[in-house]
Amino acid sequence: MRCPYCSFSETKVIDSRLNQTGDSTRRRRVCPRCEGRFTTYERIEEVMPLVIKKDGRREPYAREKLKQGLEKACQKRAIPSQRIDEIVSSIEKRLQSYGLKEVPTKTVGGMIMAELHKLDKVAYVRFASVYRDFKDVDEFVAELQEPPTPDSDPAAPLFSFANPPENTP
Ligand SMILES: [Zn+2]
Repeated sequence: MRCPYCSFSETKVIDSRLNQTGDSTRRRRVCPRCEGRFTTYERIEEVMPLVIKKDGRREPYAREKLKQGLEKACQKRAIPSQRIDEIVSSIEKRLQSYGLKEVPTKTVGGMIMAELHKLDKVAYVRFASVYRDFKDVDEFVAELQEPPTPDSDPAAPLFSFANPPENTP
């Protein structure tokens, strides 16, 4: 994102938050050259990475898909739908914070599993079975064999690129 004051091309994101409907992101940016600060509003499709399917196909990130998977897993459990929205938003925020162009399905799946494991064990197991229908059996089995511990640091690395890069696009 180019600096509106001096046109320097590598401005830095200092704050990023979803709006209430979750379809756009407000970003505070600072220019390292002139120290000018400005705000951008970016649609979720523009800031979320593409999802890499197991067969290598890339798909645009779809909030609804993630939410539906969670809702299905949480059906008839005592979990407010607002809690599900919060989980979706927190996963989106983490995905954005990596600043990557693409992210594997299993990374997203792993994040969901970690959240559900903390939230509700039944929902966790249910999501696991839905996950299997997505044909990601190998990853799923690996996840089940090493479930995240409930008291683990939520910011702990689930995968190798845990440190967000300095500059996000
Ligand atoms: Zn500038």
